[in-house]
Amino acid sequence: MPPTDYDLIIVGAGPAGSTTARFAASAGLRVLLIDKRQELGAPIQCSGAISGHGLAAAGIPPDPEFIHEAIYGFAIYNDRGDRTVHDYRQLKGDEYGPGPGKKPLGYVVDRRRFDRYLMTQAERAGVDVWLKTEGLGYRPRPDGSCTVSLLRYNQPIELTTRVVVGADGLQSQVGKWAGLQTHIKITELAGCLQFIVDGVETEGLLEIVTGHEWAPGGYAWVFPKGHGYAEIGLGVIATMTDKPARWHLDKFITQSFFRDRFAGSRILEVQGGGVPLAAPLRTQFADNMILVGDAARHVNPITGGGLHTAVAGGKIAADFLVGHLGDGLPLQGGALEAYQRAWLGAMGDKMWKLYGIKTGIFHNMDIGERDRQLYATMSSYFSPTSEFKKI
Ligand SMILES: Cc1cc2nc3c(=O)[nH]c(=O)nc-3n(C[C@H](O)[C@H](O)[C@H](O)COP(=O)(O)OP(=O)(O)OC[C@H]3O[C@@H](n4cnc5c(N)ncnc54)[C@H](O)[C@@H]3O)c2cc1C
Repeated sequence: MPPTDYDLIIVGAGPAGSTTARFAASAGLRVLLIDKRQELGAPIQCSGAISGHGLAAAGIPPDPEFIHEAIYGFAIYNDRGDRTVHDYRQLKGDEYGPGPGKKPLGYVVDRRRFDRYLMTQAERAGVDVWLKTEGLGYRPRPDGSCTVSLLRYNQPIELTTRVVVGADGLQSQVGKWAGLQTHIKITELAGCLQFIVDGVETEGLLEIVTGHEWAPGGYAWVFPKGHGYAEIGLGVIATMTDKPARWHLDKFITQSFFRDRFAGSRILEVQGGGVPLAAPLRTQFADNMILVGDAARHVNPITGGGLHTAVAGGKIAADFLVGHLGDGLPLQGGALEAYQRAWLGAMGDKMWKLYGIKTGIFHNMDIGERDRQLYATMSSYFSPTSEFKKI
């Protein structure tokens, strides 16, 4: 293959793209990371909850630069307000807690600062970062490399690379450029809305409220945000309700068993976005191209969490590419399927299993039974003995 401008061009500098870029450049690859935004992570469309082991899996220290609040466990509620609590300060008090020699179980991060932190770490590892640069398309070339078309500060530009990494999020175009099936069924897309509020007490736990009454097809949440603030939000599936997420959030705040707790809350910010509660893409590669993060539907289909899977998946992608390019292996004709196999072995098989559990619950036509199953599944999912606790 003749020389190319870069070994990798990564489209999207969210958590998945920046992490892929950092590990690839640290191992010596020439990497360009682009993002169409001029300010990463803005507007915020994320509650920011990530486990400590999720950060550790991608070699990210829990830096105060991006942390809003430490988390010590979970409280899962059914529709009537009965709850199951897994508070690791009590369950494993010698390991988890606020004191010296102990650690939090996880964190609520500020996505604006988290994304910028990850991008900066990538840049310090040798990655070229271009903001305000949009990926428009790519073309595999007969010599085994490919050409990528970009729009940088509104100026068209073409570069050559060996591999394009699509880390361009939920509305990914990179997979479409290669003709992959990236369509999300409306029955599997949760519309999410959250308020950042003042005046709501929290206890260092991620609180999750299940039940069709409050969040049809999804769940509601109350997360601590630090400095006395909290996030109150929910996600709903449009085909399970004829009301918008805003209507359900108002109802949750004013009519649920938390109404007294929320009575004095003041809304400081409104955030929203879509979350795929879907299966991973069946094909996450094409000639000279792989997908990672939300773009590949690397999102936990039970919780909707995609931060851990984005950064852990970024490391898997980078490790694969470093080995594959280092060995001079082909990049076309299905050769990059090896990436998908590596990802399935490391994390994807468990995500497929979670997807099976989720569809089993929501195919149930009896709403009461579905509510009971979701509450039981969430309660066991977050327990210390959960087989999924590293996802
Ligand atoms: C309301 C809400 C709450 C959430 N809360 C949580 C939570 O608490 N915990 C959790 O784990 N997950 C949460 N998620 C999910 C999480 O936000 C995503 O899974 C995560 O952001 C995925 O990271 P990513 O890097 O794959 O994609 P993204 O963060 O979406 O990054 C993609 C990047 O690609 C860029 N881009 C797109 N197209 C192009 C292009 N053509 N050219 C150049 N750049 C491009 C975008 O500008 C963006 O910066 C939440 C989501 C929502 C909507």
